Amino acid sequence: MGQSLAVTGGAPVATIDWPVWPRPVTGTDQLVADVLGSGRWALSGPWKGRRSHEQEFARRFAAYNEVEHCVPTANGTSALVIALEALGVGAGDEVIVPGLTWVASASAVLNVNAVPVIVDIDPATLCLDPAAVEAAITARTRAINVVHLYSSMADMDAILAIGARHGVPVLEDCAQAHGARWRGRRAGSLGRVGTFSMQQTKLLTAGEGGAAITGDPDLFDAMFQLRADGRRLAPQPPGDDRMELIERSSLMGNNYCLSEFGAAVLLSGLEVLDKENEIRAANAARLTARLREVPGVDPIRRLPGVTGDTYYQYAVRVDPEAFAARSAGQVCRAVEMEIGFPVSRCYPPLNRNPLYQPLGKRRYLLSDEHRDRIDPSRFELPNAERASAEVLTFHHSLLLARPADVDVVAEAFAKVRRLAASIPAPANGTGPAES
Ligand SMILES: *Cc1c(COP(=O)(O)O)cnc(C)c1O
Repeated sequence: MGQSLAVTGGAPVATIDWPVWPRPVTGTDQLVADVLGSGRWALSGPWKGRRSHEQEFARRFAAYNEVEHCVPTANGTSALVIALEALGVGAGDEVIVPGLTWVASASAVLNVNAVPVIVDIDPATLCLDPAAVEAAITARTRAINVVHLYSSMADMDAILAIGARHGVPVLEDCAQAHGARWRGRRAGSLGRVGTFSMQQTKLLTAGEGGAAITGDPDLFDAMFQLRADGRRLAPQPPGDDRMELIERSSLMGNNYCLSEFGAAVLLSGLEVLDKENEIRAANAARLTARLREVPGVDPIRRLPGVTGDTYYQYAVRVDPEAFAARSAGQVCRAVEMEIGFPVSRCYPPLNRNPLYQPLGKRRYLLSDEHRDRIDPSRFELPNAERASAEVLTFHHSLLLARPADVDVVAEAFAKVRRLAASIPAPANGTGPAES
């Protein structure tokens, strides 16, 4: 181990060829080439004598999640939008969202003209705090949007109980938790509806893509139409070159369909999802054991209800006091330089996330009252604030490396801690905000 930190010009703890993400599964090129020559590139294209990849993926992803129905979508955001609309959320309704999440959790709520009510997180899991949810319920609450963040799941027992007590449906945003389980049940199958993103960084990906799952046939019928401009699937396969989507609608939709190319890539990715989740979980368990030996580094914990582990990001809380009072941002940069793999800062709290600016969009300024209700500055999120200052995250591709390579992350934290005083102290004592 070097005597000076890589961030101050020393040798790094190791030089490793980290896994590339996304990585194509064997056979994907054949499936994509097959779509290219098939004459059908979209669900909204003509029948070509066999089920579309989109519908095949819907069947397999529903089966994977042990639910009846799946509606594939263009991305995770559109899955959230159709789920909210199918639940009947609309103008002026309130939807509870966590204060620490990707911006789409709240912007999708604005997109259906509803009001995101941003509530604080449980510092242990970084997910929705059930007590904060209960306190935020009003007569106008129409849904609870629970996000399973990074490598945790929210306390689903408590949140489902609150939803049931108040007659408010629970929507699970599983964009970061494909394949997780809570007391044996798949993430996304516990609430009335579950949504997923298949964007490039996610555990299952086609670059862009998404899905909504449900056990409720009426919700399914609504979500199907909402993502296909109101069209439904023909009850029987049509003749060759005829449209499989028929114009017999009960409600108005938009086009949020997943292409046949995306569906083909997702079909092959789904084949390896469980195996990859197992590799990540084994490496994460090993890393967690080693990191627990480094004072001031605390891997984020999961509740005992989680019975299937997933890692979208491996998250650790850093105590600056253990690092010669250097900020989490400085520790982030120093560890990144030691391992040659990007380390990220936690999301900023939603009420001061630069990507979340509802008042800057004319389409959301429906009235003075609505403007005040969507103003993010009315929310206070001390736990999200603190997590944002202290938590560092590692993308899941790190956990697909060889076990010995993953150990290097713990070595890097130990070295940075030992030599932290050699990192120049920030002028104002707070350190850089960005990684
Ligand atoms: C990625 C993500 C989304 C949005 O998905 P897109 O496919 O990018 O639209 C929504 N919620 C969470 C928690 C996410 O991580």
